[in-house]
Amino acid sequence: MLARLFRLHGLLVASHPWEVIVGTLALTVCLASMNNLSASNQICSWNDCPKVEEKVHSSDIIILTVTRCMAIVYIYFQFKNLRQLGSKYILGIAGLFTVFSSFVFSTVVIHFFGKELTGLNEALPFFLLLIDLSKACTLAKFALSSNSQEEVRENISEGMAILGPTFTLDALVECLVIGIGTMSGVPQLEIMCCFGCMSVLANYFVFMTFFPACVSLVLELSRESREGRPIWQLSQFAHVLAEEEDNKPNPVTQRVKIIMSLGLALVHAHTRLIAEHSGQNRTEELPIVERLDPMSTDAWLCLSLPTSIDLEQVITLGLALLLAVKYVFFEQAETESSLSLKSPIISSPPTQKQWLAEDCCRRDLPAPKPQKTSNGILATSPTFLPVSDYKLSPEVDMAVRQKESRSLEECMAILSDPQGGAHLLSDAEVMNLVTSRKILNYKLEAVLETPERGVAIRRQMLSSKLPIPTALASLPYKDYDYSKYSIINVIGYMPVPVGVAGPLLLDEKQFYIPMATTEGCLIASTNRGCRALSLSGGCSSKILADRMTRGPVVRLPSACRAAEVKIWLETSDGFSLIKEAFDQTSRFARLEKLLVCLAGRNLYIRFQSLTGDAMGMNMLSKGTEQALHRLQQQYPDVEVLSVSGNYCTDKKSAAINWILGRGKSAVCEATIPARVVQEVLKSSTAALVELNINKNLVGSAMAGSIGGFNAHAANIVTAIYIACGQDPAQTVGSSNCITQMEPAGPAGEDLYMSCTMPSIELGTVGGGTNLPPQQACLQMLGVQGSSPDQPGENARQLARVVCATVLAGELSLMAALAAGHLVKSHMTHNRSDFYSSFFLCTCWSFSQRFLTLFSLS
Ligand code: NAP
Repeated sequence: MLARLFRLHGLLVASHPWEVIVGTLALTVCLASMNNLSASNQICSWNDCPKVEEKVHSSDIIILTVTRCMAIVYIYFQFKNLRQLGSKYILGIAGLFTVFSSFVFSTVVIHFFGKELTGLNEALPFFLLLIDLSKACTLAKFALSSNSQEEVRENISEGMAILGPTFTLDALVECLVIGIGTMSGVPQLEIMCCFGCMSVLANYFVFMTFFPACVSLVLELSRESREGRPIWQLSQFAHVLAEEEDNKPNPVTQRVKIIMSLGLALVHAHTRLIAEHSGQNRTEELPIVERLDPMSTDAWLCLSLPTSIDLEQVITLGLALLLAVKYVFFEQAETESSLSLKSPIISSPPTQKQWLAEDCCRRDLPAPKPQKTSNGILATSPTFLPVSDYKLSPEVDMAVRQKESRSLEECMAILSDPQGGAHLLSDAEVMNLVTSRKILNYKLEAVLETPERGVAIRRQMLSSKLPIPTALASLPYKDYDYSKYSIINVIGYMPVPVGVAGPLLLDEKQFYIPMATTEGCLIASTNRGCRALSLSGGCSSKILADRMTRGPVVRLPSACRAAEVKIWLETSDGFSLIKEAFDQTSRFARLEKLLVCLAGRNLYIRFQSLTGDAMGMNMLSKGTEQALHRLQQQYPDVEVLSVSGNYCTDKKSAAINWILGRGKSAVCEATIPARVVQEVLKSSTAALVELNINKNLVGSAMAGSIGGFNAHAANIVTAIYIACGQDPAQTVGSSNCITQMEPAGPAGEDLYMSCTMPSIELGTVGGGTNLPPQQACLQMLGVQGSSPDQPGENARQLARVVCATVLAGELSLMAALAAGHLVKSHMTHNRSDFYSSFFLCTCWSFSQRFLTLFSLS
């Protein structure tokens, strides 16, 4: 209820900023002009102050000077902290808040105490000491996290709903607590408390009215940036709403505050009543501030007399000037350089909470023992503990991070100190080391205490160089086991949705197929194919061949010499010597065949080998290198040009793979009864057979295709490859497939179909199959890792599954095309309404293009 009221208030203020600002100013000016009315009742007439000059004590002067200095330092640190947020808007808005609150406060002071501004000298330090910019900044952050003016209003009202009740209660409690001091009977304390109450009220008044209106207005007047997002919008504040929601005040504390304020109100009422009845209070009819001892007040307020102000003014002014010079000239450059490195995504910590979220890389465990790395840096052990094993130490973290950046030499000393380590360096310091190439960027993970921190820092450094610095905000990088990969320059990982198709009845066993894809209807379509196959009694498969190839290029002095070598390699003695050298490089690689061809004095040797359950490219490369050394022993004039001469052929379309095969060659077949074709696939055998001939055979022949005699084998191969940790680039050769369909059964109404895939390059050990999520998908198929029965059986089983799933996918898509379902299915299975029109257009144009090509062919 209360929150709703505050939300409404916030919305009203943010929606009508002009009215609120003008109204607030008018009210303040009215208050100021009422000085005349109050002048007669003022406690201290500033003009009379010289009369009490002799009552001024040196202790008062000291106290006042210290207060002023403290106020200046306090405000300085508040602004310094704010600047770490990296937003000039926050700084400006906080400045505005301070200035206007001070203005309102001054007006109130003048109203109560007199019209001479000189008296503010004494009052303002107390005001500044009580000003708390944190709530105002939180409200500003709400606004700055918005993407549009509309959102600015909503966020201000939301912020008001969250902050308003707490702020009101806090203001009330503060006023009542400080108000106790006004009844102390100690004149100086009474006047100080009086200033305190006014300060709290002025702050509250400005926070509730002028401030949100101003924030809304300033942001409205700011123009949109080139990228179409508001120039104020800062992604580091994007979660401020959620965070503040999480940080909602403890209800117990709130209740204590309410009870306390009730108690204090009673104390106030009781004191006033007693004073009234006993008649002790000679100024009982007057407001609180007017009950103060005029003489003491005079003394207090008149400390700024010419005789006493000189030294005091000099100290205060000097301090203010020094801090201003330091802030403007010495900290500007440093902050700018560190801010330019800090991504808006992971900017400097505005709150401790943000640190915790951003920074799961510090730990309070002893630093790992440093080791010399190849670049000469003393790096921590590259054997990393899992991220979860690192404990956070927020206090140490804050202390370390908020420290001024140390020199490069100091940082290097800390890094190489066995008692020190990277965990004692702030991100800014690590970035300095990277910029000055003391740490190599690509070795960040190895040098820092956790790989994740290395990734986070690399992202920060990269973000500032990108056209859109917030570009990486949506690319996740946390909670990933970076110890399992060997790639460099990591900035995150790409989440791809994984779906399941199946059950697929293959060789009388059921399989559920994991498929990673962003294509809306791929899994749905494959699933329909699986269902049709299962209802047809399943499909059967066979592995025709299993060998990986590597084809280096070597050069000889002449073509005739090259021919001599070719002939020697084709002899059984030559082959045996080469095989011996090749096979000794692995427990699983077994050289089966050499295919040698010649082009002038160049010799291309296609090594063909078993690879167990591994896809085998690394294995083949190792074996080939060793075999070539052996060949050079036999023929010293053999010059190895490259271990790969593209005669392999890896990751490129090539007829040799289509014709001779590579990796696993598989075939899969099924007979689908006419009933299933009609009821599940909504098509007919005749239509499917005709379409297959004209599209997959004639159409592809007309296009000069190599191995592309299918509808979309690559779709299924790629989705399974990504899910199961295969090398995605090998979908080039692995998708080679010819899909055949013919009428079957006595009446020729059933459909016989097959998919033949000669070059499925995959494995169940090595490469990406070592990563846990990918292993999970392989486990779904029961083929993860090394086969316990016979090396290579898991990989061959996976190849069968790929071939059978391609069969299912081919069946479904062909049926959809034959029945004209394509556009409809894309529409139905599309993920997001937002993209549906885009998808519709794409699919429509695709089908139109297909139909045009189809009719052309
Ligand atoms: P690999 O991880 O390099 O080798 C497989 C490892 O697993 C070998 O150490 C092997 O032992 C061991 N292993 C254990 N049990 C096995 C079993 N049952 N069957 C086979 N090996 C078993 O894997 P790879 O398939 O040769 O290479 C795959 C990686 O190569 C992928 O990351 C891929 O992206 C990349 N690739 C490399 C090239 C290239 O030209 N180098 C080209 C394309 C792709 P042994 O030590 O006894 O052999």
